[in-house]
Amino acid sequence: MNVLKQTAKQCFNYTLATFALIKLRLQRTPTLLILTYHRILPASAPERATEQPGMALTPESLDAHLRLLRKLGAEFVSLDGWLQSRHKAEALPRLAVAVTFDDGWQDNYQHAFPVLRQHQVPATIFLVSRRVNTPWQFWPERILNILLNHDQELDHPALAWLREFGGTRNLTSDQANGVIENLKQLDDETIEARLEEAESAIPTLRISDQRFLLNKDEMEQMRDSGLIDFGAHTRHHYRLNHLKEAGSLESEICGSLKDLKADGLSPVNIFCYPNGNITAAGEQLVSDNFQAACTTQRGWNTAGVQPHLLSRFSFHDGNGGTNAGFLATLVRPGQ
Ligand SMILES: [Zn+2]
Repeated sequence: MNVLKQTAKQCFNYTLATFALIKLRLQRTPTLLILTYHRILPASAPERATEQPGMALTPESLDAHLRLLRKLGAEFVSLDGWLQSRHKAEALPRLAVAVTFDDGWQDNYQHAFPVLRQHQVPATIFLVSRRVNTPWQFWPERILNILLNHDQELDHPALAWLREFGGTRNLTSDQANGVIENLKQLDDETIEARLEEAESAIPTLRISDQRFLLNKDEMEQMRDSGLIDFGAHTRHHYRLNHLKEAGSLESEICGSLKDLKADGLSPVNIFCYPNGNITAAGEQLVSDNFQAACTTQRGWNTAGVQPHLLSRFSFHDGNGGTNAGFLATLVRPGQ
């Protein structure tokens, strides 16, 4: 990007940030902003080498978001608490902010929980019920590991399928992320089965030195703190509009809540759609079985919002690394 373009982009961002400041200050009707995060990782964390853009933010930036919003008069609420108050027709805060995390990453305990505790900010973590407390690794990180760290193996017959989707040697990180997007033509179960086969044939492809997801002890500590709620994010994180077996829709949606209850995690009755993918049948099941659901649609929620279509803002280094970027994201047009 040339300097002129970069400067114009920066000016636009500052204009948006100023507009957001004014909107946050002047907002009078009760509003709920839901912030979404995935991974909270220090800038130097080795895990970042095989992570997609849009997934990680530093603990320092999370801290800055919370400080800034509090300074602007926001009241931090638990998502469930806000929904309960609304249901009982109680007075709602002028500007309520609910913090959410998707997937149940181990770093939520290691790097986000201390920040939340320091500020006494509640949060809801949406768990993939059959994946947490196991050594599971999501397929995009495993694919990036193959493409960026083991591309000398790409000629192996067990990886022929990956080559079909653009998996060649010497890809840049951007190009490797393009392969992940290409692979989304397949359903998640099929991708995982092919990865299992490849990793069995070439064991060095396995990422062995990282635990990605929360374990039981970490979840229990967070639950017992009274600050953290857990919600359902399906059993296996399959995209609900692209299931291998259509019959597994109910198990993925309703089963995830059952699992969390059986695990003693006292989940809240809130669902979160993986990847934001919704189908009519899925939406019906969610409406019938949950008091509310989070989408990946962006926007400010009013007190009259349809509770099964809650809007959120997702933050990562790219849009949340500075206060101006964070504010601009809250009002960026085209959302
Ligand atoms: Zn997710």
